[in-house]
Amino acid sequence: MTLDEILEEIKKAETIVLLTHETPDGDAIGSSLAMKLALEKLGKKAELIMSSYAKTFDYLPEVNDIKKESQIEEYDLAISLDCATLKRLDNNEYFEKAKKTIVIDHHGSNNMYGDINYVNPVAPACSEILLAMFSYYGIEVDVKIGTCLMTGIITDTGGLQYPSTTADTFEYAAELLRKGVDIADICKRTLQTKTKANFELTKRVMDRMELLEDGKVAFSYIDQKDMNEVNAEEGDHEGLVNIGRNIDGVEVSIFIRQKENENAYKVSMRSGSYVNVSDVCLMFGGGGHPRAAGALIQGSVEQVKDKLVNEVKKYL
Ligand code: 5GP
Ligand code: MN
Repeated sequence: MTLDEILEEIKKAETIVLLTHETPDGDAIGSSLAMKLALEKLGKKAELIMSSYAKTFDYLPEVNDIKKESQIEEYDLAISLDCATLKRLDNNEYFEKAKKTIVIDHHGSNNMYGDINYVNPVAPACSEILLAMFSYYGIEVDVKIGTCLMTGIITDTGGLQYPSTTADTFEYAAELLRKGVDIADICKRTLQTKTKANFELTKRVMDRMELLEDGKVAFSYIDQKDMNEVNAEEGDHEGLVNIGRNIDGVEVSIFIRQKENENAYKVSMRSGSYVNVSDVCLMFGGGGHPRAAGALIQGSVEQVKDKLVNEVKKYL
């Protein structure tokens, strides 16, 4: 069984590196930190490498142990968490050079780029996969690991609200709450608290919001000028795509933000109930989940908007 194979590889490895997707969200950072802590319980020291992460996550246990780079070039084992493709994996050179590779993920668009792939597209968060995994391995989920994993679950389910949330999710949440994980605090920090820059960007996104295709599509954007003017930092764009999604009648919300020094836009797409936005984004080399997906597209705001709306139309 895959889970046994994974444990076998972990036990064999002397050097382990943990990696996740670029611009990590709560599930990316939560699941990879939880994995690091769980490996320590198995007597294994792993390195977690991330180019950067949002200040929002400063409360996570052991977050200061995250490294930007490593002296080791060739690890015995590389584990990728919450990342659908090798292209999207931050610092993927460590993955490519590792002797053995494992992918643990919940994206339906995952293209199975590891030697061992443990992918469950039904799981609402990679963090939830880890909860089941740690229980199988007999690793005790303490408050620290629980805080990391609950952060992943809360952020990927919008506070246990998205349809991806299952009865199991609520049971895990109840179990972790009993153990002392402060779920209210996690919700407050990750879902309710807005940075000033995010607040300023929200105003601009609302001002520019266009409703297209009989109000079924919402479109808005921010560019580098906006981000400079409000002194935006990593993570300050989080949640802006939801503004369009929450408007009555909107099925697909499209939010794009300009990449630094590039004539390209990072796309965030959300859908209400029936459009599979992962399929839409796959057409542009991206991917994700049926109700939340993304891609990177070259061009100006108008060009990117036209390309996306023309594709989305086919699914309405
Ligand atoms: P977000 O809009 O929050 O950045 O991303 C929504 C979902 O789509 C996340 O699960 C994220 O991992 C995935 N996603 C975002 N951008 C890309 C991309 O360029 N490629 C792939 N494969 N997935 C993406
Ligand atoms: Mn995730």
